[in-house]
Amino acid sequence: MLTQLIYRSRAAAPILSEDLESLRSSCEQNNKHDSVSGIMCFDGEYFLQVLEGGESALDALMTRITADRRHKNIVIIFKEPVGFARFKPFGMRLFDIRNNPDQLNSMSELMTAYGDLRIPKILNAFTQGLWHDSTRTWSPFLVSLPRETPDLNERDLADIEHHHACFAFQPLVDLQTQTITAYEALIRGRNGQSAFQLMSSMQGDTLHRFDLESKAWALQTASKLGITCTLAMNLLPQSLTFSPDAVPKLLDEIALYGFKTSQILLEVTEEELIVDVPLFMKAVDTLRAAGVRFAIDDFGAGYAGLSLLADFQPDKLKIDRRIVSGIHNNGPRQAIVWSVVEFCKRLGITVVAEGVETMEELQWLHAAGVERIQGFLFAKPAIRALPIIEWQNFLPQ
Ligand code: C2E
Ligand code: MN
Ligand code: MN
Repeated sequence: MLTQLIYRSRAAAPILSEDLESLRSSCEQNNKHDSVSGIMCFDGEYFLQVLEGGESALDALMTRITADRRHKNIVIIFKEPVGFARFKPFGMRLFDIRNNPDQLNSMSELMTAYGDLRIPKILNAFTQGLWHDSTRTWSPFLVSLPRETPDLNERDLADIEHHHACFAFQPLVDLQTQTITAYEALIRGRNGQSAFQLMSSMQGDTLHRFDLESKAWALQTASKLGITCTLAMNLLPQSLTFSPDAVPKLLDEIALYGFKTSQILLEVTEEELIVDVPLFMKAVDTLRAAGVRFAIDDFGAGYAGLSLLADFQPDKLKIDRRIVSGIHNNGPRQAIVWSVVEFCKRLGITVVAEGVETMEELQWLHAAGVERIQGFLFAKPAIRALPIIEWQNFLPQ
């Protein structure tokens, strides 16, 4: 299938004008054979290349480019089927826009004439430097943090073992201060069942009552584990509104287990439709007035979207794992995170990235200004325990 692919990369070493032309012609020679045509733009540091050809030829080409040491920071901006080959007459045309960013104008006009509305805009964004990565350098953790976390003793365990469910805890790490700023309590069945397995069998008030009551177990376990930083807990929106007692009950329990309201962060998603927005907002306002903070969870997963954010601005916004995963070489996801960071900056909201599993993801997020990280890279959730972070993995090599 005729496919169009746009990617951006960064030159690994400075490139002279004469090298650029030989790069182009070798690129053209190689691609002619595979019927791949396109344009390449170079702004002195970054390349943006638009390629068109058969899908498998493009995939093979991307594999070669990824292995080519002259390119680094390769980011795919898009790959889509197209109806006709726009660049065929040009072979592989070079635009050296170092001193002349307007060079691309005629190409943009041509694309617009073809009825292509996206390519001219992407070219324009590239010439404006919008596809540059921030150059902030990564400073790995140097400080030694407390590694040991207490195990529950027999008596403590006996106190919480009779609950219908238990809680696992996962740390949230602040890259700036290099500390654990919060633990998130994640529900598990008595036999280790997942949150989904446990809660999908319940409905209506039974579900909401269970969700709310389980928070007492989370608080009790967290208190026995000696959590002194923020404790994040998940709640369905209706678990705060299904009964008029819900909010006072939650506040009582927070106090009963010795937590200050300012230590409590409630994570909500739109997984469940907020049926009565004013009622939900009233519950949120009461809790906020008492000092409790809120996070919008799973942002970008389809549940928690812009409408929840329009209704109330949380203290934290957690970007879903599906956006974070593979972010270091995915153009659309990068563009989303940049804009999330930007609007959160304006609204004073702290951005958290969830589900960070690799060092590449961590480094990209850090450079993009995301300071809070949760994910298997640092620690998996541990049942009735505070997981140990292997900080030495983050020391300079
Ligand atoms: P969540 O609030 O987004 O919690 C994060 C989930 O992502 C957890 O799954 C956690 O184990 C997982 N996770 C964290 N880091 C990584 C990573 O690097 N890679 C991968 N692959 N996964 C990672 P878990 O514990 O299965 O929880 C799933 C969801 O269940 C939670 O998503 C939350 O929405 C819900 N949940 C958990 N506890 C409760 C609760 O007490 N009440 C309510 N209403 N929902 C809960
Ligand atoms: Mn959560
Ligand atoms: Mn989440």
